[in-house]
Amino acid sequence: MEQRSGKIAPVSLELLGAGRKLADKLNVELAGVLLGHKVDQIVNELYEYGADTVYSIDHPVLEHYRSEAYQVGVVDLVKKYKPEILLFGATVIGRDLASTVATELGTGLTADCTRLDIDLKNRLLEASRPAMGGNIMATILCKNHRPQMASVRPKVMKAIDPIKGRTGKLVEHPINIDENQLQTKVISVVQELGNKIRLSDANVIVAGGKGLQDEKGFQLVRELADVLGAAVGASRDAVEAGWAEHSEQVGQTGTTVAPKLYFAIGISGAVQHTVGMENSEIVVAINKDPNAQIFEKCTYGIVGDAFEVVPKFINEFKKLVQ
Ligand code: FAD
Repeated sequence: MEQRSGKIAPVSLELLGAGRKLADKLNVELAGVLLGHKVDQIVNELYEYGADTVYSIDHPVLEHYRSEAYQVGVVDLVKKYKPEILLFGATVIGRDLASTVATELGTGLTADCTRLDIDLKNRLLEASRPAMGGNIMATILCKNHRPQMASVRPKVMKAIDPIKGRTGKLVEHPINIDENQLQTKVISVVQELGNKIRLSDANVIVAGGKGLQDEKGFQLVRELADVLGAAVGASRDAVEAGWAEHSEQVGQTGTTVAPKLYFAIGISGAVQHTVGMENSEIVVAINKDPNAQIFEKCTYGIVGDAFEVVPKFINEFKKLVQ
């Protein structure tokens, strides 16, 4: 269960939702593993979102995430309680921790899964993810080592509706490491300033691609996002051209998003892009090529030149928000 400053990451609640289904199929209990310092206020939330048990390690060395300390904590818990399956959010922290834990335990890890299921006959986790540049779905099994490990990106799985007042069992555990043994020190934590909306949290995203021609053209995307209070997204080609930051990239090697409304402007709709946005509720695509692949993934398609269509949107939305 990933937390920062005592706030649970939404992906952890989504993992509990996915984990609940797996545990029910296997007829075993679902547990949340919570490491941190003074984070016990989260425990009840984990029960309400489906955990039967919470394994918790509370220690000052765990106040801020550091691979060394968190890895020792998780590996100790795994060795003692021997889970069949161990899931992580594929966030910056989750990716780091999952890989160090898998290496230390000598087991397999399937990263960035988009589907998890159980082969009941063999009690195996079926971890599926896009492979070969997104052209096939591969289902990966870990037959000979335990635990079977997988990571899942934020917004791919669904959390259950919390059951108010649901409780469970708390197992508190010590940690076998102290500050002197750690090679990394957290000197200070600097919050990103500004009112930029995070891509993964946004309800509305305006994304642009290579069709915007240059950095100045891409400004149209930023302008529309500004008027709508939306986050900016980009295709990989727009990022590689230097018009957008990598943190703004949507897709297989960027962020997976699932907003209520997604504008795809001058984006062709390559599978590596659409795997990252196809769970959006409403997709509006603007492209001058009527045969562009993106039109197969959209709710509303506008065949037209972005430089004519987008300024019209900006003007109309400006009138609405004034
Ligand atoms: P293009 O494919 O060049 O499309 C530009 C579009 O703009 C065209 O459809 C064109 O008709 C339209 N257009 C041109 N002018 C205008 C205009 N004036 N008005 C309106 N429309 C216009 N891509 C991602 O996005 N995210 C990823 O995470 C990602 N990961 C990848 C991982 C791997 C392993 C590989 C191999 C590729 C990956 N890609 C990713 C790249 C992906 O395959 C595509 O190359 C990329 O998405 C294309 O970007 P684009 O749609 O902006 O550009």
